[in-house]
Amino acid sequence: DDSHFQQDMENLQDCFAGFRQKYRLIKRIGEGTFSTVYKAEDLLYDSYDNSWDLDKETEKWTPPPLKSFSGQSSATLDYQSQSQRRRKPKYVAIKKIYVTSSPSRILNELELLHDLRGCRSVCPLITAFRWTDQVIAILPYFRHADFREYFRNMTRPDMAIYLRSLFTALASVHSHNILHRDIKPTNFLYDPGSRRGVLVDFGLAEREGYDCKPCICHDDPVTRKRKLRPLISDKEKEGYPREDTRHSRRANRAGTRGFRAPEVLFKCTEQSTKIDIWSVGVILLTILSKRFPFFNSADDIEAMIEIATIFGRQRMQAAALLHGCMLQTTIPTIGRSGFSFEGIVLWSTDRNETKDKLPEDERLAVEFLSRCMELDPSRRISAEEALEHPFLRMGLD
Ligand code: ADP
Ligand code: MG
Repeated sequence: DDSHFQQDMENLQDCFAGFRQKYRLIKRIGEGTFSTVYKAEDLLYDSYDNSWDLDKETEKWTPPPLKSFSGQSSATLDYQSQSQRRRKPKYVAIKKIYVTSSPSRILNELELLHDLRGCRSVCPLITAFRWTDQVIAILPYFRHADFREYFRNMTRPDMAIYLRSLFTALASVHSHNILHRDIKPTNFLYDPGSRRGVLVDFGLAEREGYDCKPCICHDDPVTRKRKLRPLISDKEKEGYPREDTRHSRRANRAGTRGFRAPEVLFKCTEQSTKIDIWSVGVILLTILSKRFPFFNSADDIEAMIEIATIFGRQRMQAAALLHGCMLQTTIPTIGRSGFSFEGIVLWSTDRNETKDKLPEDERLAVEFLSRCMELDPSRRISAEEALEHPFLRMGLD
């Protein structure tokens, strides 16, 4: 549907006054659930300023106030902005957010991107425009390859560099108390040539603690047991409470299937930045096992079954109880104690998991993987800690 695409581009160019003077659309580079992204040439690339502000009251984008530093001549000021301008990229990615997205959701994405400007390995927002219900975000264009084209050929140092870049982004995002919520290969643009990557797509991101109710996973084990007792004794009586007065739980479950952390599946009401770490773990598992997608569940129940198959019934039940969920299953493929990551990696790369052993650097990668895919979020490694892990420090010391 080339003509459809041409029409799309025409519409976009006609929508915004002066668009054709500012940008030359080159091609469509992405089509997601929430947006279409185009590559474009920035025709006036030295004349924009990237600190436009969204006025929350008027919902208008306003240019930055003119700064005047006392004692500085206008000549110096001019010189500074000139040199800053020269560093700006020539190509941009224009993210056209679907008009069906709610205004609050669009505002959220742009606001978080604005908060994260200047963070390493996070794609900055240059500016944004709105015309009636159409919003476009302008980002520097970042050259990248399709994950499926390079993940099978990554060496262990390649993996460490890839993950170092991703965890650098996450460490800064998390230090702003922001959860990305949709970590997956298509949202981490990586260029294997330059070995650089940037994190994009803050469409589902949110501030930690926003819209949260306490979850018992944050209680100490004794308190948790006390709060769980009614639930356990119901089970012991092998019956269900006649009048269940517990509220049905609502929790944010946004994200992409296959990358959702167990606490998201268990509807933890107090999710933290650790959900992003789990998703990176899934990426690493994909790379190490050379299988994409590694998880292929259609819904949350299937996703739980997949994770339970790896970790085994016992550990999965304990993980569920952390958030007050009872997990019962008679599925024969879910064993009592599951499989080791080492075994899974050997098996999925056609090695013999009973006879073969992983080489030492791969064992280190698997050990790191198990720290990322820790079922209990409080025991899962943080982005900051991950950057200090020997696997990610490979080649640095
Ligand atoms: P969505 O919310 O629709 O998933 P994304 O922000 O993830 O939107 O962008 C969709 C795709 O567009 C990305 O997977 C990537 O291929 C491409 N893309 C997004 N931002 C950029 C950028 N700054 N440079 C190059 N490509 C980009
Ligand atoms: Mg995306």
